[in-house]
Amino acid sequence: MRLPGPDGREWELLTTVAQRWEAQMLQGFLETNGVETWLLSYDASAAAYPGIGSQGQQILVPPEDLETARALLDSGLEPPRDTDADVDPTAKATTERLAAILMDLLAQPCVTGAEAPIADWLAARYHATGEEVRRVGNSLVVGAATGERPCVALVGHLDVVPPTDADREPRRDGDRIVGRGASDMKSGLAVAMDCFEEPDLRGAAYDLLLVAYAGEEGPHEGNELERVLAEVGEVAEADLALVLEPTDLAVQLGCLGTLHAEVTFRGKAAHSARPWFGDNALHKAGPFLTDLGRQPVEDVAVGGLVFREVLSATGAWTTNARNVVPDAFTVNVNYRFAPDKSIAEAEAHLDAFVGERADVVVTDRAPAAPPHADAPLVSAFVAAARAPVEAKQAWTDVARFAAVGVPALNYGPGLTAQAHQAGEHVPLGNLVAARHALATFLRAGPPGE
Ligand SMILES: [Zn+2]
Repeated sequence: MRLPGPDGREWELLTTVAQRWEAQMLQGFLETNGVETWLLSYDASAAAYPGIGSQGQQILVPPEDLETARALLDSGLEPPRDTDADVDPTAKATTERLAAILMDLLAQPCVTGAEAPIADWLAARYHATGEEVRRVGNSLVVGAATGERPCVALVGHLDVVPPTDADREPRRDGDRIVGRGASDMKSGLAVAMDCFEEPDLRGAAYDLLLVAYAGEEGPHEGNELERVLAEVGEVAEADLALVLEPTDLAVQLGCLGTLHAEVTFRGKAAHSARPWFGDNALHKAGPFLTDLGRQPVEDVAVGGLVFREVLSATGAWTTNARNVVPDAFTVNVNYRFAPDKSIAEAEAHLDAFVGERADVVVTDRAPAAPPHADAPLVSAFVAAARAPVEAKQAWTDVARFAAVGVPALNYGPGLTAQAHQAGEHVPLGNLVAARHALATFLRAGPPGE
């Protein structure tokens, strides 16, 4: 089976495996043996949702390499755990360098709201090498755009959620590194820093900015990316923002928008021994909650990717004493909507769903971001990374970039399942793979050059 690849070339299907890690292991094995590969997510059980899930991973190779690739698989060679590093001394050096940066990052205290020490440390590192460093609060923009080449911002947040006893002390454990933030997202920052610090890559096709910001894990208002975008024009004018959040080495495009609304049912208070004198607001909400529970997941295709729209009650309360029939009952409803809708359209959809039954007050809103899959630098990155491409089924800071017109994507070495977990870890091989993808993209330059 031949498929047109993201790079416009034809690719041949070599095999399909169940797990992404298997696909990545085979990819490492094939590429070490000189066969280019392209991984494609494929939901074998529901082809209708090509952008979601990872029930199947297709491994594709150039048609001319198909025979070689088959022979390699048939040779039954067990790919060594540390393929690149065993074979290639430069790869070994890259692994050790990335591990060292990651260990340095993990050693800096940086729980949300207390990022000053890590920002100081990072600023000192780059002042020492003569880089331009601009600081906004506890966020940093390192490097400068000349305006002569397209500008790529390598973006990551500095903060972590509070550590647990299982990850307070960063350590190396075989081929993984354990520590709070190892996956979310110090490993992404380490990859960004290592690329940024390589003169070859700085001298290649793009101006690079390293953007390390504070307050991502906390409440919306504390997120400093908004201020960085407002105060450092070069970031808001970048041609691509590569946000290295954990994605299991998949390219995640776009993001869902989110609305929180307080939906309040009104009634009339009464003593609960004589409820007929009142009108129970809580009881009135019953049919609404049933409707909400029956809402189907709405699959919305945008730019070739499928986003899943969902509407959920996430909390509810009354404020009366327990022997009083409540005169008001409020349900917090969270609506996650696809990038084909503006915030106003999402609010209108929610209003129509509630109808005359209750009052709706939207308390929090964040826009969705389109996948921008056609933006030249996004497709160039997808082609260079040869990684599975997925819709981002959540809200992320790529939306802040989208809001100022900067195409942005999520791609990182961290494991999504490890984010915020006790004993958080990351496999070192993922850093090497992500570093390779970034370097390939940065060296290749923009399409058509
Ligand atoms: Zn994160």
